[in-house]
Amino acid sequence: MYQNMESVIASSNLPVLDLRSDTVTKPTAAMREAMHQAEVGDDIYGEDPSINKLEEYAANLLGKESALFLPSSTMSNLLAMLAHTSRGDEIILGADYHINAHEAGGSSIVGGTFPCQLPLADDGGLDPALIEAAIKPDDSHYPPSRVLSLENTVSGQAVPMARINSCLDVADKHGLKKHLDGARFFNAINKLGIAPTDLAARFDTINICLSKGLGAPVGAVLVGDAKTIKKARRDRKFLGGGMRQAGILAAAGLFAFQNNIERLQEDHDRAAKLAAALRQLPNLNVTHQDNQTNMVFINPTEQDAEPLRAHLAARGINIAGGTDVRMVIHLEIDDDGLERIIDGFSSYFQN
Ligand SMILES: *Cc1c(COP(=O)(O)O)cnc(C)c1O
Repeated sequence: MYQNMESVIASSNLPVLDLRSDTVTKPTAAMREAMHQAEVGDDIYGEDPSINKLEEYAANLLGKESALFLPSSTMSNLLAMLAHTSRGDEIILGADYHINAHEAGGSSIVGGTFPCQLPLADDGGLDPALIEAAIKPDDSHYPPSRVLSLENTVSGQAVPMARINSCLDVADKHGLKKHLDGARFFNAINKLGIAPTDLAARFDTINICLSKGLGAPVGAVLVGDAKTIKKARRDRKFLGGGMRQAGILAAAGLFAFQNNIERLQEDHDRAAKLAAALRQLPNLNVTHQDNQTNMVFINPTEQDAEPLRAHLAARGINIAGGTDVRMVIHLEIDDDGLERIIDGFSSYFQN
């Protein structure tokens, strides 16, 4: 049978290039130094200066009143749904969006909400006509439609502002709350060439993940108006997400905001280069759309999938298994690393 891939990768003696996700990034020496220096206090008392600083920084960056530091984007999205709904309310969102597909049904389990799941358009956004058709009339047969929850980026695709705005117009017309799962918010605004406030402005709440391409080890922030964030802060307590001297983690998040936003452009450039190089090789069926940011998708054949993965693993390159493979570029993949990855793929197909 196949060897344990982790041991193959480790035995290559090369720095590991892990393409499975941008969540794999480890804090750099400079980020660790910022964490080391962080002033801390008891955040449940509101006394952690590093957390307070991060929350203020995030709110200012997005042009909102308030922000809340959280252990994960999953909790951040859940708190947004709890803030905007009561039991029995309906959330309209993309079927493949993270809140619907990858958060273990938390919003339904904890919030008692009902998901109305819409298909995604080619650019990762939703169709405003389908949103309009999905909004329920005031009739006792139906759950009240309460929230429109969008996502950007979606599987790495930056959804264009024109589409986002046309969806938000429908939400406004029907008085829905508007949430953005912007786990990769800064990848989106980089690709769209807009300011953070441009994407954030019309949303009531925005979730941002600190532990993906931004490179922090843990955390997310939920951003919005003061009243909504106050409710989320209260609900965070019963979810068990209240943390004490967590400023040591918030300091990593602040460092990420101050140092790792601009550099996302490098990830996007390298992802495009990787896609172009892999398109020269046979049988990979490369997907990298025009609005793609830091991801490249390939479909190796059944026959190639495991031997290709093992060939790459022996060269210190880690990709996910199977025939539908997502590869994500992040701050641990520099130009030399990218070259090693392209060489790894090329040499497999030359043999
Ligand atoms: C990763 C991700 C999340 C969840 O992030 P965690 O911090 O791992 O809980 C939520 N939404 C989107 C779009 C994501 O990509």
